[in-house]
Amino acid sequence: MRYKTLALALPLVFGLTALVVPGPGGQEQSTNHKSSSSKTHRKVIDTNHFPIVAFSAVEPADSERRARGEKHNKSNWNVDPDAPSDSTVVVDSVDVSLPAFPVDQTAAVVIGTITDARAYLSNDKTGVYSVFSVLIQEVLKTPGSLAVGRLVEAEREGGRVKFPSGRVHLYMVSEQDMPRVGGRYLLFLTNTNSESVFEILTGYELREASVYALDDLPKPRSYENTTPTNFLNELRMTLAEPTLDVLHYSATLEPDIAAKSVKGTVRIRFSTESQEAEFNCGDLTIDSVRLAGAALKFSVADHRLLVSLPAEPRGVREIEIDFHGSPRRGIRFFPDRQQVYTIFSTSQWMVCVDDPADKATLTFKLILPATLTPIANGRLVSQRELPDQKRVSEWEQRTPIPTYVFGFAAGPFHVVKEKRRNVELQYLATNYTPQQVRRIFRDTPDMLDFFEDRAGVKYADRTYTQVLAAGGVEQEMSSFTALKESYGKQLLDNEQDLWLAAHEFAHQWWGNMVTCRDWNHFWLNEGTATFMAAAYLEHRFGRAAYLREIETYRANYEKVRAAGKDKSLVFPDWLSPTREDRTLVYDKGAYVLHLLREEMGERAFWNGLRLFTRRHFGKSVVTSDFVSAMEEANGKSLKEFFSKWVYLQP
Ligand SMILES: [Zn+2]
Repeated sequence: MRYKTLALALPLVFGLTALVVPGPGGQEQSTNHKSSSSKTHRKVIDTNHFPIVAFSAVEPADSERRARGEKHNKSNWNVDPDAPSDSTVVVDSVDVSLPAFPVDQTAAVVIGTITDARAYLSNDKTGVYSVFSVLIQEVLKTPGSLAVGRLVEAEREGGRVKFPSGRVHLYMVSEQDMPRVGGRYLLFLTNTNSESVFEILTGYELREASVYALDDLPKPRSYENTTPTNFLNELRMTLAEPTLDVLHYSATLEPDIAAKSVKGTVRIRFSTESQEAEFNCGDLTIDSVRLAGAALKFSVADHRLLVSLPAEPRGVREIEIDFHGSPRRGIRFFPDRQQVYTIFSTSQWMVCVDDPADKATLTFKLILPATLTPIANGRLVSQRELPDQKRVSEWEQRTPIPTYVFGFAAGPFHVVKEKRRNVELQYLATNYTPQQVRRIFRDTPDMLDFFEDRAGVKYADRTYTQVLAAGGVEQEMSSFTALKESYGKQLLDNEQDLWLAAHEFAHQWWGNMVTCRDWNHFWLNEGTATFMAAAYLEHRFGRAAYLREIETYRANYEKVRAAGKDKSLVFPDWLSPTREDRTLVYDKGAYVLHLLREEMGERAFWNGLRLFTRRHFGKSVVTSDFVSAMEEANGKSLKEFFSKWVYLQP
């Protein structure tokens, strides 16, 4: 199986060091305290980082500064060269909730280096005002006057002050409030009343491995464990416009099993404000692109189809794309067995958007020899005979799903059916007798009950189909799963060998319906399905069977850890995952869920999983969504647990 390699945005969640300063009454005041369970460690910051200028009295040092603003009555600010500079800053490790990016209020968003910084204390002795020179390295949003290489002046309020007695002699400037000279920052700037001077609304220091917020704003948003790269990806995504959102695909596909090729047409309904639309197209050849019958200009580069759209109408549009090709992956052909099935990389056999966060509905027509039994996503709505002993079958997938679980399988299968309440269970196979097929899949109805109970959400479709297909396949798709044929024999030999069937069935909830927003959070799909397979074995065969699985996960993870290859379960990118990375996502992910279950206890854990699943059913998730639901069910913070096991924080 191959996974998508687009670098998408990460949800950013990081634990920060926040400032604690002695307040006026001598008590410590935390600037942010979301969690009361955090550990306290103190250190004294080297105040040489902070070019704090002490306060004296009256005259402004700088007439230009006087003109600038009202906020702190800056005309009263000045420098006292005699004031002591024994500032101390006490830093405490607590949770910090960061704001959503205040993009709307900004004139500019830039990345730059602070080349000079000066701080001033307000005359009323309550605030610190600082001025910075910023050398711009990248402009993400501009009012027009900013460019790379330009040196701009920016200012901001910030800092805290302590007045022990009488004369002011101790100034507290927080690490968050005061950008550091030489530091690389992402800054959200707004214009002040002077065109060439900007005010820093908020900012983030981009260090090698971490991102530090300058401060917090209203509407907090949590971030943890991020790197500057991920952080900036998130921001670029936030700023990126316009985006494209696919609403519906309507495809007709004719695979040629003998020739190992496909040809087809897909109508894609999508919304965009842009005049260009981009789709993934694998190695397919694009024959034509049309809008309302009229040909559109397009180009193909790097497995992407770029379509030029007319200026009007804007908003929702529908284009039609003809394509053909001989895909080398994403679909497997077995001419001697008359079988074909898809496997994960949908854009290899049908033009689409690969992004797992862009869920869409699907109408799918499949043309194949009439002798073959096909299966695809959703509900089979019609079958019609065509000339040349062919047949067209049509399915409707009415719940939006990610495109990587779009798919189909076909072969000379015979079909065994049974019903569990209102869900039809189908088993497709060739080399097994109907009696054997029933034995192989005898636990499927019970799995349906179990997963519905543990998810707190009913199975989303009317049918669930398991196909025993040629080759080594183990692939979930929406409303069906393709399993390697040999797995049937394994189950006939050992009825306890249910792991694979349970894992793939679990994906119908965790993965297909509650979907990782991008592949960096893939552990939410795979770790959960892997854990749920063990949980099913426990339900079916008892605690010992469960613990055996967990021990396997632990041992697999332990090997990776011992090799020094342990990582955060939230990946900075999933561009070229190693074998160890996959072990982490599957085995460590599942093992961590087991540990979380131990930590939270039965009731809270399963309530949390149900809350998570119900709340995000049909949606896309990031790890912080999972953390929130589990903490809610737990009634108290799980920060330490997730820091240690998921984010791999010391
Ligand atoms: Zn899986």
